[in-house]
Amino acid sequence: MLLASACAPMTRPTSVPGGDARAIETALSRHIAVLSSDAFEGRRPGTEGEAKTLRYLAEEWQAIGLESGTNDPANPWYAPVDLVLSMPSSGSVSFTASAGTVNLPADAVTVFGTQRRDLVRDAPLLFVGNVAPVEPIELVGRVPMLNYAGPASFERIEHLASSGASAVLVMGSKADLAPLIEARSHGAYRLASDDRPLAPVVLVVREAALAQPGVKPFAGRFLDADRPDFKPTALPLTLSLDTRAQLSDVRTHNLIGRLPGRDPAAGAVLVLSHWDHFGVCRPEGSPDRICNGAVDNASGLAMMTELARLLARGPRLDRDVYFLATTAEEWGLLGTHAFAAEPPLPLSSLVGAFNLDTGALAPRGRPVAVVGQGLAPFDAEVRRVIEATGRQIAGDATAVRFLRRQDGWALLQADVPTVLVSGSYADEELLDRFLRTRYHQPSDTIEGIELGGATEDVLLHLALIRHFADKGRYPPRAE
Ligand SMILES: [Zn+2]
Repeated sequence: MLLASACAPMTRPTSVPGGDARAIETALSRHIAVLSSDAFEGRRPGTEGEAKTLRYLAEEWQAIGLESGTNDPANPWYAPVDLVLSMPSSGSVSFTASAGTVNLPADAVTVFGTQRRDLVRDAPLLFVGNVAPVEPIELVGRVPMLNYAGPASFERIEHLASSGASAVLVMGSKADLAPLIEARSHGAYRLASDDRPLAPVVLVVREAALAQPGVKPFAGRFLDADRPDFKPTALPLTLSLDTRAQLSDVRTHNLIGRLPGRDPAAGAVLVLSHWDHFGVCRPEGSPDRICNGAVDNASGLAMMTELARLLARGPRLDRDVYFLATTAEEWGLLGTHAFAAEPPLPLSSLVGAFNLDTGALAPRGRPVAVVGQGLAPFDAEVRRVIEATGRQIAGDATAVRFLRRQDGWALLQADVPTVLVSGSYADEELLDRFLRTRYHQPSDTIEGIELGGATEDVLLHLALIRHFADKGRYPPRAE
């Protein structure tokens, strides 16, 4: 494989013999071992881990025969993305009920602001439960309060924080809140170009809150959140806060490669996968301080790279295929938003995009789920291609939970037809076990990683990209 890739031949057979599955799996494992090694420091944007990650991928992609896809001679391969990092420095929070101030023990409340100074005075609390959506409730000037309900809450907190609320209050057990506090204490990124207000987040330990005399009279309402007919409810409490944070500029990059097609005027296909993860994510003295992100998302990068190799070795395609390794996905799909804001080609010329994220969970022989299904006109065609390969398509009950938590969501918002096709999102049990035990933790390492499904998903994407890059089989996108 290595010899063949060095000179990027364009005339290899289309079919992939079964024996190649083992070679793909070996290559996936090799990439993941490198990208998730401690030497790459958890691939945090703006660190030496970023430089190593992008250098590794760029070298692999060049050897495969890709060209720079930035279409910017000043910045080949690496498209700069400017972020602002806010590091919390100090903060105070107080609650007032009709009977007076509600005093919580200092270690039961943690606050993270996002501006140099965030100031909130007497904003009313609105209990929004566990997971139910709050739209179309007006949040401006209010403080939505939710029960922490596992990792799904991360994205909800982000969503609430950017919807005009004065602050977002998260209540959970000490153990639940610890990883949130740990993650936020290393700072939060946003796009430098993004001037939307982003609300501070207040974390409150449930047991301590419920023990307060001022809270007891309405504590029962927190249990209502589990009722199927739950409706957001105003609480007789207001919140005030005053926080300070240090802001600094961070330059990070999307890596963009391109496999030139025969007829670029016929449009292009995009494959994307986020390269970033949480870096050194545990405090000094912890036994393991690095969140290596082997499954999330060294696996996706490995799959994208092997897909590029197989495509480059095969017959020349009509359309260009772009390969995009995105930055800062973990902080709100920032790299993809940046790509969509300043794309290297008109977004309307993308006939379809395929995201690869968290690919290494399912074993061989499992169905795939289609995250993003039903939101773009090319979905029916995607399903047909999948079915033609013999893969089963799972129901989308699990997949739908992840729609907004993956880069494809940012592209869908920019009207680019995008799906995430993966065996990892087809099995709720498997996925939930990963979320509970390894997701965003130092334990997401290559140890015991499963590549059977990922290998099949690479071959499935080979069929998908070949199909959508063929202007005879898939006509240009209607404007
Ligand atoms: Zn992640």
